[in-house]
Amino acid sequence: MRVSRLMLVTLRDDPAEAEIASHKLLLRGGFIRRISSGIYAYLPLLWRVLQKVERIVREEMDATGALETLLPQLQPAELWQRSGRWDGYTAGEGIMFHLQDRQQRELGLGPTHEEVITALAGDLLRSYRQLPVNLYQIQTKFRDEIRPRFGLMRGREFIMKDAYSFHADEDCLRQTYAAMDGAYRRIFGRCGLRAVAVEADSGAIGGSASQEFMVTAEAGEDLILNSPDGRYAANQERAVSLAPEAVPLQAAACSELATPGLASIDELCRVHGFDPTQTVKTLVLLARFAAAPPQPLLVCLRGDQQLNEVKLANAVSRHAGNEAGALLEIAPVSSEQMAAEGLKALPFGSLGPQLSDDALRGARSWRPRFLRLADTTATSLERFVCGACQRDAHLVGAGWETLLSEPDLRPRSLDLRNAQPGDRCAHDSSQRLEAARGIEVGHIFQLGRKYSTALEATFTSETGNEEPLWMGCYGIGVSRLAQAAVEQHHDEQGICWPVSIAPFEVIVVPANVEEPNQRELAETLYGALRGAGVDALLDDRRERAGVKFKDADLIGIPWRVVVGRGAADGQVELVQREGRSSQEIAAAALLDTLLPQLEQQRLGLLGQPA
Ligand code: ATP
Ligand code: MG
Repeated sequence: MRVSRLMLVTLRDDPAEAEIASHKLLLRGGFIRRISSGIYAYLPLLWRVLQKVERIVREEMDATGALETLLPQLQPAELWQRSGRWDGYTAGEGIMFHLQDRQQRELGLGPTHEEVITALAGDLLRSYRQLPVNLYQIQTKFRDEIRPRFGLMRGREFIMKDAYSFHADEDCLRQTYAAMDGAYRRIFGRCGLRAVAVEADSGAIGGSASQEFMVTAEAGEDLILNSPDGRYAANQERAVSLAPEAVPLQAAACSELATPGLASIDELCRVHGFDPTQTVKTLVLLARFAAAPPQPLLVCLRGDQQLNEVKLANAVSRHAGNEAGALLEIAPVSSEQMAAEGLKALPFGSLGPQLSDDALRGARSWRPRFLRLADTTATSLERFVCGACQRDAHLVGAGWETLLSEPDLRPRSLDLRNAQPGDRCAHDSSQRLEAARGIEVGHIFQLGRKYSTALEATFTSETGNEEPLWMGCYGIGVSRLAQAAVEQHHDEQGICWPVSIAPFEVIVVPANVEEPNQRELAETLYGALRGAGVDALLDDRRERAGVKFKDADLIGIPWRVVVGRGAADGQVELVQREGRSSQEIAAAALLDTLLPQLEQQRLGLLGQPA
């Protein structure tokens, strides 16, 4: 390909719309253009990258025996209603775009395909003899993200590879899950990405085991916690740890302390000399469901700990059961909301676990009783400081038994806290958790029989019984991956694409195309490279050499062959983009010098010594 025909439009300055390096560079390099919030055009340069990523994905999926397919993006509401996910995906914070057709039938634009594929599997897979099966597709997904941002990282329309496997038993599911784990490691390695596998929350998809693949990068939205011994790594959403020991509270009996104006744990501790581990903080939140009245929550944590919203949402969903429908939202309760419910204001800042359900008496639409939950760091305190449930007063030396004499008020004790960097590890208390930021590029799940049961996708087992299919599902964010590669591989001047997914492998740059020697040698080398199967680009523009070098750096072509003054003597300069090492070589030796290195680099990290 010739640069003059490439519709290359590069930008000198950082576009205002971009915050992180990869987003800026993809815009500046002419890889993407924003059409609307979270909606991007993939320009020809990026399309080449995406196709190379897709090819690697296909090769590795095919190698596991998975079958490629293509499912509809327009999906009938009825399927999602049968799985119980329609409300959760369309109401509240739901992310499914949905619409009505001319017959007023509801449809959704596929954010994921469990429903469609499970319905198909139920039809097509009748006997254990047909199992296992693993189907995958590479396709545009639609999600009306609450905060689309960072370009392709969190788009509202993006490319995903999703796969769904079906099995006669759990053991077989585990085997395919392990095979997918292996395929994913090869895919990311071949794409030149340093990715780590971490334990993950299964979220709205559901199921039991799940693992995410994170590309480590400062700009990542996820926090990964891992142990230095390499035995534990998890997304903070899911991570467990041992909390710091609490400092014992010296208090003879429970007494009241006047605390005017001290509404936060920090202030309370500063003024009265408590340690935050000696306190219990109490939060009032409201959970909204698709098919049940709003449920007020009273959640207690030790004062030094942070609430983990994912763990809380999982606990609340489990407690509410299927009848409540999808959990739409959990949010702190405000004074205005209390007033709108016809309830008295709460003494925020002085709340305690003993807050009575009387606070909810007469609520218009809420359930009149709190669901009481507490983190184990709080419930394991013998004596603590907490709000007195009246303004400007706290209790010092409170204990769970005395404070909550009615068993009804006792909270369920659960893990609801965020594990933090520096915490001791649960598997070995001599290890301390370290933190890294990560970009989630893949996620694999053992779904079990949740969807097959809901959609009645059954098969006849070897013993002749009708049983729901066992399922797994496996996603890769193809377009996000391409941008994650830029986040991991760039410098001040621009992108440094890994060879395996670079839009072109080599760019031949004649310094001055007006110079016949240079022009002709550049053409010859370009032809020779293409003849040798190299993905080559020729910068045939009548631009100054400096402009062409800048563009080549910006768009990140891994190798540059500069044909300059030395052309007269058959000499060229060979420059590697990452690291910028350069050497003068005889033009005649170009292929012999370059090809062995390219061969190696096309394997991505798999081509590097371990
Ligand atoms: P996230 O937690 O980042 O919102 P998710 O867990 O909802 O993602 P999955 O349902 O696991 O995403 O989707 C599979 C893969 O698709 C993810 O691992 C990610 O790489 C990619 N992906 C998900 N949402 C987006 C998005 N809005 N834009 C680009 N890629 C996405
Ligand atoms: Mg995920």
